[in-house]
Order: sequence, then structure tokens, then C-alpha cells
Amino acid sequence: MSGRIAVIGLGPGEARWLTPEAAAELAAAEAVYGYGPYLDRVPALHGQARHASDNREEIARAGAALAHAAAGARVAMVSGGDPGVFAMAAAVIEAIEAGPAEWRALEVSVVPGITAMLMVAARAGAPLGHDFCAISLSDNLKPWELVERRLRLAAQAGFAMAFYNPVSKARPWQLDRAFAILRAELPATVPVIFGRAAGRAGERIATVSLAEARGDMADMATCIIIGTPATRIVPREGLPDLVYTPRRADAGGTERA
Ligand code: SAH
Repeated sequence: MSGRIAVIGLGPGEARWLTPEAAAELAAAEAVYGYGPYLDRVPALHGQARHASDNREEIARAGAALAHAAAGARVAMVSGGDPGVFAMAAAVIEAIEAGPAEWRALEVSVVPGITAMLMVAARAGAPLGHDFCAISLSDNLKPWELVERRLRLAAQAGFAMAFYNPVSKARPWQLDRAFAILRAELPATVPVIFGRAAGRAGERIATVSLAEARGDMADMATCIIIGTPATRIVPREGLPDLVYTPRRADAGGTERA
């Protein structure tokens, strides 16, 4: 069996953020699987089969791609950003673990990409310059109580945070609740960065204080970075502010410039 599956990160959007390795894997693939909007970003190649699927069908999509690879094909599975961050790489490996023994013999390559939080952080300055964590606010795959607990503990531990999947039609109130939890733990002045469609058309980056942050400032294409009590804003005459979290922290967890 010569089958191979590459789980490829496409980066945030524009072609210049696609790595040369990802481009080479896409060019070599006989079939490309993925969520429709991500597939649309991949230039169509002659003779390459495309299998678009719905956002919520991750395990079915992984199984179809693996069965195709097990039949001897070179298959690519695409994700936005990095495939290992709230995306398809874990779904593919989960399917391999639960699937037929022959799937374990496949060649598997996970091709990293620039994940949303890194793109948003780069646009703002260096808000993730010290310890941080990433939290998906979606309760599709975990109970909301666990999200709340992790928010509280991350704030208490002094982590900067990146929120993925901040809102959806099915989750209208959760983001405001998340801000309320953080306001109970953190100073009102902590910077909150809303990064929408970072690295692609329609990009919008805005920084407000935790006191001002509201759920309706984000949509599904937004990654939100919550600073720490030590995160600083450097104003500049006629130029965008620079938001950064200093590299040093004392024993209490407070960073120092
Ligand atoms: N694997 C992706 C994340 C998938 S989860 C990655 O590594 O980036 C989907 C969430 O990612 C969205 O709800 C949003 O929070 C975030 N996201 C994806 N692309 C984005 C972009 N270009 N700008 C801002 N946020 C983005």
C-alpha cells in the first residue's frame, strides 16, 4: 500500500502566508478534502479530485480521506491556519486510532501553517510575548462549564489568552459571559484585541480595554487576544499603537518591561 495523507495548514488566507511545503504537498495531491471555504482557497489543478464537506462533518470527512488514501492515493486534507489548532489533524488521527488496522500503515504528514492567533498577535505587536494559552469558546465538543473553569484559571495564572470560535449563531451569549468572568478576575484596563479576518481581505484589528469589550465586537472570523495585567500599549504619533506583553515575570506572575 503506497497511500499517503497530508494534513495541510493553509495559513490565515492570502497566498503569501502559505508555506512552500504546503504548496508542494497540495501540488502533489491526487485528491483534496476539506471544508468548502478552505477548498475554495486552493487553486484547482488539472485532474485533482475535490471533496468539499460541511464544517461539522470532521470525522466523516477524515474517514473518507483515509479510505481514499488506503486505496493507494496521495490525499491532502486542508485546514485554515494550522491543522493542529482546533482543526483536522486531531480528527484524522482520532479516525486512524478508531479505524481499520490498515489505516495505521499509511504515511501521514502534518504540514504546519500560521495559526490565527499568531497572525493577529503579529498585527498588534507582541501580546503573546510571555506565557499564553489558546481556548476555543465553542461548546460543540466540551461542556460550557469547562470553558468557564479554564477561563477563570487561566486569568488567575496570569496567562494571556487567545480565543478561537468566539461566537456563532448557536452561541449568542457565551462571549459576553466570558468577558464577565474575566472582569471578575482581571483589571478593567487589560487590553483585548479583536482580530478579524487577519491576513486576508476584510482584515480588521481593534484594541479595547477589558471594561469596553463586548460580544458583538466579534464574529466567527475573529480571533480575540486577551492581554495580562502587565500587557502594555505603546502609543506612537501618527502610527498604530504597539501592544506587547513583556518577556519577564516576577514570582507573582506579573511581567515586567
Ligand atoms: N485551524 C485554525 C483555527 C480553526 S477554528 C487556525 O489555526 O487558525 C476557527 C476559528 O479560528 C475562527 O472562529 C476564528 O476564531 C479563528 N480564525 C481563523 N482564521 C482567522 C483569521 N484569518 N483571522 C482571525 N481569526 C481567525
